[in-house]
Order: sequence, then structure tokens, then C-alpha cells
Amino acid sequence: METYVWSIPLRTRFRGIDVREGMLWRGPAGWAEWSPFLDYSGAELIPWLRAAREAATEEWPAPVRDRVPVNVTVPVVTPERAHAIVTDSGCRTAKVKVADPRSDIADDIARLEAVRDALGPGGHLRIDANGAWDVPTARRHLAALARFDLEYAEQPCPTTEDLAALRRHLAHDGLDVPIAADESIRRSGDPERVVALEAADVAVLKVQPLGGVRACLELAERLGLPVVVSSALETSVGLAAGLALAAALPELPYACGLNTSRLLADDVVDEPLAAVDGWLTVRRPAPTPARLAAFAADPATRARWARRLEQTASLTR
Ligand SMILES: [Mg+2]
Repeated sequence: METYVWSIPLRTRFRGIDVREGMLWRGPAGWAEWSPFLDYSGAELIPWLRAAREAATEEWPAPVRDRVPVNVTVPVVTPERAHAIVTDSGCRTAKVKVADPRSDIADDIARLEAVRDALGPGGHLRIDANGAWDVPTARRHLAALARFDLEYAEQPCPTTEDLAALRRHLAHDGLDVPIAADESIRRSGDPERVVALEAADVAVLKVQPLGGVRACLELAERLGLPVVVSSALETSVGLAAGLALAAALPELPYACGLNTSRLLADDVVDEPLAAVDGWLTVRRPAPTPARLAAFAADPATRARWARRLEQTASLTR
């Protein structure tokens, strides 16, 4: 099998990293991306590999829509920059990263004010805390942020139990801030616990960490919650799998987090999956040899990914 290892810088530091890297290969059904983050290891990489194998060897489920609404993602930047990112995006939904260790709640509020201003009252505003707050902190901060009319707060606390406790507190406080589960779905090892504990109103599904498009469709059906499909900060090859999932879901009530190709400085395809006026057209772009060469990782990185793939594949045999 012919594999490629790519390495592309991020435009803005995100999720604590400055460079994204991963593997690509072509199978009988199309191009596959395998790009688990470097802080994932061992058996955690198996669903990422299943997703890549599915992309390479199986047809994705038939789409029920030909375009998908997407949100703009606002990293931890100045309010001025946040305003510009939202305005330039054309998106009607913005997801703002909050609770970053390099900033505090006053910074978050200033950024949210700028984003709400850029969106106008009709736009949808959601936040993602990546599990950074404990339950009392989340309760306090969400009370302060409720005035922004949040569409939902994504993973405000680390565990599913925390989310369930927070939801009870918010109901008690009369605060209508829906909770979305992300890490509780894809990293807890027990996504169904989110439903059992009534820990969330919305489920965020990501194709690679959850084992592929079909696995996500089946999980969505079992969960019975509204689904938001998000990326794992992939190239357009990986994003196409998320887009296939979003296109195949019976219901899609929220904008998806798939407009992330611009977070990378460049892409392996000539025409990246990038939203126009807040919509992504459902398609599957292929890498070009010139771009695969331009973004080829150095030999040490290539060797590291080859080892990673071999180790992960050995766990599935
Ligand atoms: Mg998230």
C-alpha cells in the first residue's frame, strides 16, 4: 500500500499544537486519512484506523442532502480578530473556544461580545470549554455567559457525571443553556452513558475517533440525541468523511464543525472543503501528487507514523 505522511502548520495555535500531521492512502473506494492526534496512543488509535479503512475500502452511506450548514470556529484570539474571523466567514453560527489556560473568563466574555456583535442577534453562538471547568465553576460561568443566548455549551466539564450534575444545577437555576457532549462521547469509552445519565442535549460526533461514518450513524441512532458532526482538524480528505456523515444523518438540526480546513495553513487538495456563505457542498476531493510532495513530512516523521500505523494495525489482528 502506498502511504503518504503530511505535515502542515496551523494558522493559529489550536488544541495546544502548531503543526498538524497524519497519513493518507488510496484504497479501492477512495482516499483515506489517518491522523490521530499525537497525544493519543495504544488502543485509542484503533477507531481512527477503522475509519480510515472504511474510507479506503467501503462506499459511504448514501447522502440525504447535498449541502451541510457549518459553523466558523473562533480560537483564543483578540476580540478584534474574533470579530473579523466571524465576519469574513459568512457563517451564521460561531463556535468560540473558551476556558483556555492562557486566558480567563474576562477574556472569554470580551471575545464572546465581539462574536455576538459580528453575528447579530439572529446568529447562533456556541462555546466549547473542552472539559476545563469543574461543576461549580461551569455553573458560575454559564450564568455569566447566558446573556449571549448560547445555542449550547460544549463539554463544559470533564466527565459525563459532571455534565449530568451541571445540567441538574442549570435546571435548578432556571438557566436555559443546552449542554453538548464531545469528549464524553468520543474519549470516555462509554458514549451511551451520556444518555443513561441525561448528561447532554446534543451529541458531537467525529468520524475518526468514533470508528467511521457507519459507526457514527449507528451511534447516532442509539443515542437518539441531535447530532453535530465535527472534524478532528483534518485535511479535506478527512473532512470529506465527516461531510459524508453529516450528509447521511436523517436529521441535521445544527450547523456542523466541518469548516476547519482554513485552520490549516494549506491543504493536500487543490480545492479544499471550505464553506461558502456558511454551507459546504457535499463532495470528496482527492489529493494531487504536487501537493502530496509539497506537504510531505520529513523522514523521521514518516518513520514515526509508519511505526504508529504498524503498531495500531497489530492491535486489530
Ligand atoms: Mg469540542
